[in-house]
Amino acid sequence: MKKIAFKLVGLALSSSILLAGCSGANSSNSSNSSDSGKLKVYTSFYPMYDFAKKIGGDKVEVENLVPAGVEPHDWEPSTKDIAKIGESNVFIYNGAGMESWVEKLDGAFKEGKVSLVEASKGVKLIEAKESDHHKEDGKHEDKHEDGKHEEEHSHEHEGKYDPHTWLDPENAKIEMNNIKESFIKADPKNKDTYEKNYQDNAKKLDELNKKFKDSLSNTKKKEVVVSHSAFAYMLNKYGINQLGIEGLSPDSEPDASRMAEITKFAKEHDVKYIFFEELVNPKVSEAIAKEVGAKTEVLNPLEGLTDKQVKAGEDYFSIMNKNLEVLIKALN
Ligand SMILES: [Zn+2]
Repeated sequence: MKKIAFKLVGLALSSSILLAGCSGANSSNSSNSSDSGKLKVYTSFYPMYDFAKKIGGDKVEVENLVPAGVEPHDWEPSTKDIAKIGESNVFIYNGAGMESWVEKLDGAFKEGKVSLVEASKGVKLIEAKESDHHKEDGKHEDKHEDGKHEEEHSHEHEGKYDPHTWLDPENAKIEMNNIKESFIKADPKNKDTYEKNYQDNAKKLDELNKKFKDSLSNTKKKEVVVSHSAFAYMLNKYGINQLGIEGLSPDSEPDASRMAEITKFAKEHDVKYIFFEELVNPKVSEAIAKEVGAKTEVLNPLEGLTDKQVKAGEDYFSIMNKNLEVLIKALN
């Protein structure tokens, strides 16, 4: 897999040079704007796209790499995608191990046109548990104080951290702030717009965070069964534990012993709802629900919207509010 990725980088590098050559005047333009005069932004997957749109407003042109309806964990960019990143002004990815392919882009864009922004920088990361991995990835002994994670560590510890940072509204605020700072740096003349958009959204995130806190701090039940272990950032701070049918990435089906373990857990804790997600086949969730006499319901990790959700105008806030509703229903 690594070899392929390096080939991709090589190709991307040569394509971006070619593209830079073709675009003429644009290539030496340091004012960083697309033909429309807007900042050209690429994002890795949905939450990054939504956050970038919210901060950038009409000053940016945002395109998302992972298409609607596609689960992003096992997604990898094509050479064309990488060439597109190379043409943009700002490329935003979550980091924390979510897009392992980004680490292999290091040095691919030496021309200095595109700035790579790791949105989760500064977020206090949750370490992955042994049980979250299908394969063992070594010891977990490094301590990262001050809530920072160091970039140089990420190469050696792929999968060391739970990458689902955006599912805590407080983290989403940090991510939007990082995105705002990157936009101001790339396009200082629109600083006031980016600041205002950030302030508006930060206020909404504070309100959302308060709603989660008020609703989840004192629930009757403290256990949920989820499709994959994506919800630690959302739930752990309220003492709510998730049991993932799958680990940190929904990439394999549980074996018989894991199924038995989940069923036992659900029965023991009188779990009323087995959560599934729209981008992953719900058949295992349904089987467990049937076995334990529970219902199924969607708990959305916001890793991507379906076409239908896009058309309905759903976004981070609408989905998070729905998530909170089903959690209240399931935990009381
Ligand atoms: Zn996930």
